[in-house]
Amino acid sequence: MCSAGSQPASRLEAGATGDDQAEQVAATARRSVAVGLNQGTSGNVSARSPSGFLITPSGLDMTALSAGEIVPLKMDGTAPAGVKPSSEWRFHRDLYAAFPEAGAVVHAHSPFAVALACLRRDIPPFHYMVALAGGVDIRCAAYATFGTQALSDAVIQALDGRRACLMANHGLLAWGRSLRGALALALEVEALCGQYLRACQVGAPVLLNAAEMAEVLEKFKDYGARD
Ligand code: 13P
Ligand code: ZN
Repeated sequence: MCSAGSQPASRLEAGATGDDQAEQVAATARRSVAVGLNQGTSGNVSARSPSGFLITPSGLDMTALSAGEIVPLKMDGTAPAGVKPSSEWRFHRDLYAAFPEAGAVVHAHSPFAVALACLRRDIPPFHYMVALAGGVDIRCAAYATFGTQALSDAVIQALDGRRACLMANHGLLAWGRSLRGALALALEVEALCGQYLRACQVGAPVLLNAAEMAEVLEKFKDYGARD
């Protein structure tokens, strides 16, 4: 459902395996910094693999990640000895289990999403593009400490029927069929947060009603690339 955006598709196509897929995860992590979604060690990226998923390492600078630093994880959370997967591997794992269509996940501490998430506000249907995440709103998950199962549980609950959510006092998360789709949706959600916050500074935005959003959700079934 989410559109592909205009990023170059090179090395971000679906269907790659092994080292190539690890490079795609690293490239998406680096790109999440380049496009302003992340900075420093904030955020993480993963992609589903034949044996589980590949995820960015914990606590390393996202701007300089290479394929060799990407960690392969099994669905039970086991990793090869001596490597440290992202502290958020639980919500990546639980998301792949909950959404069979999900092929990639992008988590970010982007400025507008963090601002709205600190207000613990859902994004209401103030703009039709909210439907891109799959429903009439984009929920904000309850707060829990980073890296915990409680945070994963809160995120999975907020994602019910959705491809993205905010995370209270933390950031945003988006999934897609591919890394390109997950990154594109994360960017869209960040843009929506900025637009909603700006509108709120002037007054109470006029919200679209249920019928108007139902029409958009229907149109989005065949709008744009479904990656
Ligand atoms: P990691 O470096 O462990 O992925 O943590 C970053 C983060 O965003 C935690 O929520
Ligand atoms: Zn985080």
